[in-house]
Amino acid sequence: MYLLLLVLIPIFAIAQERHHFGVDFDALKTRHEFCRRPGPNTLDDSLHQFNVLKIWSDLTFNLNNPSIAGSARLRMAFDETPLPRVDLKLVNSLSVDSVTSTTHTVDSVSRQGLDSLQVYLSPSLQLGDTADITIFYHGTPSIIDGWGGMFFAQAAGWRPQICYTLGDALDLDPPPANFAWLPSFADPNDKVEWEAWLHVPPGKVGVSAGVRLDSTLNQDSSSTWHYRLDQPVSTYLLFVSVSEYEIMTQRESNPVIENFVYPSRVTQAQVHFQPVPECIDAFSTNFGPFVFDRFGYNMTRNGDMEHATSVSHYDGAVVSNRSWDWILFHEMSHHWWGDWVTCADWRDLWLNEGFATYCEALGMEWVYGDQSFRDYMRTDLQPAARSAWERLYDLRSRLLLGRDCL
Ligand SMILES: [Zn+2]
Repeated sequence: MYLLLLVLIPIFAIAQERHHFGVDFDALKTRHEFCRRPGPNTLDDSLHQFNVLKIWSDLTFNLNNPSIAGSARLRMAFDETPLPRVDLKLVNSLSVDSVTSTTHTVDSVSRQGLDSLQVYLSPSLQLGDTADITIFYHGTPSIIDGWGGMFFAQAAGWRPQICYTLGDALDLDPPPANFAWLPSFADPNDKVEWEAWLHVPPGKVGVSAGVRLDSTLNQDSSSTWHYRLDQPVSTYLLFVSVSEYEIMTQRESNPVIENFVYPSRVTQAQVHFQPVPECIDAFSTNFGPFVFDRFGYNMTRNGDMEHATSVSHYDGAVVSNRSWDWILFHEMSHHWWGDWVTCADWRDLWLNEGFATYCEALGMEWVYGDQSFRDYMRTDLQPAARSAWERLYDLRSRLLLGRDCL
């Protein structure tokens, strides 16, 4: 156990640096002030005294005039002290139009600071109650972080117009960022089921967590995409993405494997995603069955992020060679380490990253053989781990020296 921890600490440091592609770090500098925690106008996690059971999301996307409009319905159970209100987060650039409830009377709604939303209900919430509330909202999500949140991007070269979300942020503490587009209160130990209807412009495809139940072409040529996730996951693993995707199916069942690919990148994607079925079988054999009904990757401008059932995958990695296999394996493995076995507390996220980074090497072994594992460990993981360990050792030496001087 001790040895394992020593190995994983430096590996986590590597992982943090390795899979945040497409980030405009210069632009980040001007946005830090917005999202730093804690602040006088933000809520403390201790107020999260309820257990969200399921979220239903219904969203319409406008990609030409970047904005969203729709609703989020939350069913929640109350398992602590009586509460007069439900505390949620939602960026204040999104306007709340109304809040309704099928179980309680909505007395009032208030918003404070950058991201808080309080719904006051009566009668007050007692131990054992369940509540069902629906929040109707619209607007243009403000950027909360250069990596996490909701982003709209216009066409540039081979990249089509896109709206996508990333559920974790680089600069938030705690890191979940889905309050940029979804009223929620993310705690890793509060797992939810999910169902989503995405109404997207003509020619676009919507993708979200779970199995695609249906897609409907509407009279105005827009379309509606319906997904449902029956396996509860932490809220930071939920996502939506809308673009000109082609759906590339690699497997029909156990689990369904499908990737959402830009039309201009289909040829590269056929090569790039080739090892996915073999690797998911290997992980399933060695870690335990894959528990979700679907798996795949959806191309996005930034990435990667291990959203449940579909990894939001950095589009620049989709090339006609094997140079990015490691990130495919890393994010896939999170479906065991993080998406299924989940940390109770944000402070333990390094465990998810440590296991996933080791799984990059295991994927090499199980797809390409023992020599590939050894090569990857020697050339990719070991030097960075040694460098991180030397920094740790240097820190320890300084601390010991300081103690000796007392
Ligand atoms: Zn990771």
